[in-house]
Amino acid sequence: MVRAERVCKNFGALQVLKGITLEVKRGEVLCLIGPSGSGKSTFLRCINHLEQVNAGRLYVDGELVGYNERNGKLYEMSPRDAAKQRRDIGMVFQHFNLFPHRTVLENVIEAPTQVKKIAKATALARAKELLDRVGLADKAHAYPAQLSGGQQQRVAIARALAMDPKLMLFDEPTSALDPELVGEVLGVMRELAASGMTMVVVTHEMGFAREVADQLVFMDGGVVVEAGDPREVLANPQHDRTKAFLSRIL
Ligand code: ATP
Ligand code: MG
Repeated sequence: MVRAERVCKNFGALQVLKGITLEVKRGEVLCLIGPSGSGKSTFLRCINHLEQVNAGRLYVDGELVGYNERNGKLYEMSPRDAAKQRRDIGMVFQHFNLFPHRTVLENVIEAPTQVKKIAKATALARAKELLDRVGLADKAHAYPAQLSGGQQQRVAIARALAMDPKLMLFDEPTSALDPELVGEVLGVMRELAASGMTMVVVTHEMGFAREVADQLVFMDGGVVVEAGDPREVLANPQHDRTKAFLSRIL
């Protein structure tokens, strides 16, 4: 579902990603960990072409992200085609970014009705189903400010799912939450994984990584230092940098 081949990204002279190679198969969950500034968010943003890759290749579902390839040369995709690719990828951020002046239900139907031009009644029915799935059926008519952080984040997940994505990206979805609210969001993510969704999750919730992820990738300084089965990486990290990092967060 996601294939990164020597992906590089720089901002001016700053090299942030220095050749990331990894693969996430359909239905798999990959957890990405690493120190602040190591390029985790940048890599996620490259996957849905919010950032442009400078070298290397990124594929989602077999399609090159953001570029058309002709005769071995890459040509930047039209913004319209790039937007179309992005539509199939759901993203959930640390800060939930809900529309504050719209109700929960209105937030969830916004993209399907505006971007996909789905009929409002259809979108509403689907939104209610999704709110039920994230345990918020009774909050459909509330405004974001009336919800807890955990509830807002569950709305953000429902909103992303409303576009029927084939891939979900999570960038530290629980790190802005009070500790007692983390569990409810991880619970929803756990169910999503169990339902077969392909997910790339930046998180420092090692319990989640251990139980849910198929792969754990430790990134530092723009490279993959270590990757593998989460239980193995956590129990028996091979590299000093991984050991040092894990000892700080565990
Ligand atoms: P954190 O754990 O703090 O979220 P991260 O691993 O997600 O860190 P990134 O946000 O990917 O790290 O940032 C990697 C580096 O790229 C940082 O040095 C950051 O300052 C730099 N960077 C990110 N976005 C930009 C940008 N748009 N312009 C310039 N530099 C940027
Ligand atoms: Mg980040």
